[in-house]
Amino acid sequence: MRLVFIGPPGVGKGTYAAAVSQRFGIPHISTGDMIREEIKRGSELGRKLKEYVERGLLVPDEIVTEMVRERLSREDCKRGFILDGYPRTLKQAEELDRITAIDLVLNFVAPDEVIIDRISGRRICRVCGAIYHVKYMPPKVPGVCDRCGGPLYQREDDKPEVVARRLEVYRQQFAPIIEYYRRRGILVDVDASEQAEVVVPRVLKLLESRFAKG
Ligand code: AMP
Repeated sequence: MRLVFIGPPGVGKGTYAAAVSQRFGIPHISTGDMIREEIKRGSELGRKLKEYVERGLLVPDEIVTEMVRERLSREDCKRGFILDGYPRTLKQAEELDRITAIDLVLNFVAPDEVIIDRISGRRICRVCGAIYHVKYMPPKVPGVCDRCGGPLYQREDDKPEVVARRLEVYRQQFAPIIEYYRRRGILVDVDASEQAEVVVPRVLKLLESRFAKG
C-alpha cells in the first residue's frame, strides 16, 4: 500500500495519516517533519536545510529526493507507506516514479471557506501549548486555557488573510502534481469538508475496498 497524501494546509491530512498508519501498520512519512528533525539534529545536512526553510524556500529537489529515497529503502516501508509533503514539484513526482511504484494518491479536498473557518478559529495556550477551536473545541472560559489557566492566542499564520494566501500558494504549487497523477488514473479525490469523525472512516473504508481486492 504505497500511498501519497495531498491536501491543503488545515485539511486534516495529519489526522488521516495517523489513522491510516495505525490501521494498516505502515509509516507516515512527512518530508516537512523529516527536514525539521534533521535541522534539530544540527547535522551538516541540517544546517544546509535550515538555510532554505528559514527563507521560506523549497529545499532543492536533489536533496529532498535523496532523503526520501533513503527513507523508503528502510525495512518498515516494505509493506507500504504514506508519503506526505512529497512530491512537491513535478520533478519530484518524476523522481518518485523512479524510486518506487505509487499505488494510490489521495487528494483531500475542502472548500476554502471550510479551511479558513477551521484554521482561523484555532487558539493556542501561550503557557502549555494546548490547542482549542473557538467553535469546535472551545475552552470553558473564552481566551483562557482549561488545563493551566494560561492566555490563549492566535498564531500569525492562522489569521484568515494569511490562510487565504497559503491556500493560494498551495493550489499553484500542487495543481500540476494533481494533474500528473489524475492523468495516470491513480488519484482519488476525498471529500474532507466534514469533521474528522466522518472523514477518517471514509478514508479507511476507501483503502480497505481498494486494497482488499489485492
Ligand atoms: P511542511 O511542513 O510540509 O510545510 O514543510 C516545511 C518546509 O520543509 C517547507 O517549507 C520546505 O522548505 C521544506 N519541504 C518539505 N517538503 C519538501 C519537498 N517535498 N520539497 C522541497 N522542500 C520541502
